[in-house]
Amino acid sequence: MTSRRVRFCRARLPGALQFYQERHGIALHGGGSWRNALCPFHADKNPSLRIHIENGAYWCPVCEAKGDILKFHQQVMGMDFHEAVLDLGAYEEEVRRG
Ligand SMILES: [Zn+2]
Repeated sequence: MTSRRVRFCRARLPGALQFYQERHGIALHGGGSWRNALCPFHADKNPSLRIHIENGAYWCPVCEAKGDILKFHQQVMGMDFHEAVLDLGAYEEEVRRG
């Protein structure tokens, strides 16, 4: 018998720059590892959202939104964990024979 299962594979998530800039069209300001961007979770006039361009973490000191790429995608798109993982192509198929 062959069984197929899928499991979440974090390494398949897109890179932070690609994810925030290309996928979500977010302009990143400043230099270094932490960049500034307009926060999509509150009515932001200054770029208050902090985004780490290496590990994809985000944090907003104004509305206290925080998380990683997966959480960001869920929050912005209104998806649950499963939908977000599927949408970002981060499931890996595991085929077992036996
Ligand atoms: Zn915010």
